[in-house]
Amino acid sequence: MDKQLKDYGDISAPNRTKEIVSRHGFSFKKSLGQNFLVDQNILRKIVEAAELGPDDGALEIGPGIGSLTEPLAREAKAVLAVEIDQRLIPILDETLASYSNVQIVHGDVLKLPLGDLLRQHLGECEQVSVVANLPYYVTTPIVMKLLEEKLPLRNIVVMIQKEVADRMASGPGTKDYGSLSIAVSYYCEPQLVTIVPRTVFIPQPNVDSAVIKLKVRDRPPVQVEDEAFFFDVVQAAFAQRRKTVANNLLARFFGKGERSRLETILAEAGIDPVRRGETLSIDEYARLSNIMLRSL
Ligand code: SAM
Repeated sequence: MDKQLKDYGDISAPNRTKEIVSRHGFSFKKSLGQNFLVDQNILRKIVEAAELGPDDGALEIGPGIGSLTEPLAREAKAVLAVEIDQRLIPILDETLASYSNVQIVHGDVLKLPLGDLLRQHLGECEQVSVVANLPYYVTTPIVMKLLEEKLPLRNIVVMIQKEVADRMASGPGTKDYGSLSIAVSYYCEPQLVTIVPRTVFIPQPNVDSAVIKLKVRDRPPVQVEDEAFFFDVVQAAFAQRRKTVANNLLARFFGKGERSRLETILAEAGIDPVRRGETLSIDEYARLSNIMLRSL
């Protein structure tokens, strides 16, 4: 089948979306983050960034009316698309009627057993990537679910709010660096693919967007003895950004009068207690949490 994005003849992508939506009497729900992408170039960039091979599978979260699902179906061996809005299911049945390799599942991606679904629908695929224009009201919970469940994924290529993409892809010493940056870089290598203006969506969102590619790591870049505790330490260190790392950790993990014990731990980790959480690298957080774990 032709691997190029579909040419809709004399009807532009925005007009096609409007036509489908109005013919089905569909009204957009802001509460479900329904901003449909109508730019063929951006769709192409998203699909290209996923680097899908003919034996690969794609998991799409929130297919909408199927604008991204179609090019995915042409590139991948199989596509599993999870859509929460029941009203979109008959529309997807129509727009994707000519593809036999697409499976639509109706449900909330945050509640579905994704591991089981991937095994069931994409189990025959060589590698699986997530490719989606995410609903912005749940961007972080969705990405964290994909990462924390340690699903067997190769790439996660998602359109998200630019501000969240900046936080995911930033490093120590920058204003956007925080617990989300560390969580993302623990599981993946993040890369900003492109910045996207709000004009390419129907209806237009209130914020600018970005496509980010998260290349899932085979193993984390640091060794931590207890993952949950490592992330607790990171969260605590950023609890109040204007406070020093020592004061934030003291408030969360130590009793009154234990400052000198904490300072001994920080010294052992080679961390100056007056530093702020945003200056510590992932290696320093790993070292600190390992030492804290042994001494608490
Ligand atoms: N992929 C389409 C596109 O690019 O035009 C639509 C993207 S729109 C930003 C987000 C889609 O996610 C909507 O279709 C919405 O109904 C769906 N959605 C919202 N919350 C969801 C959830 N918790 N689980 C699955 N789908 C969800």
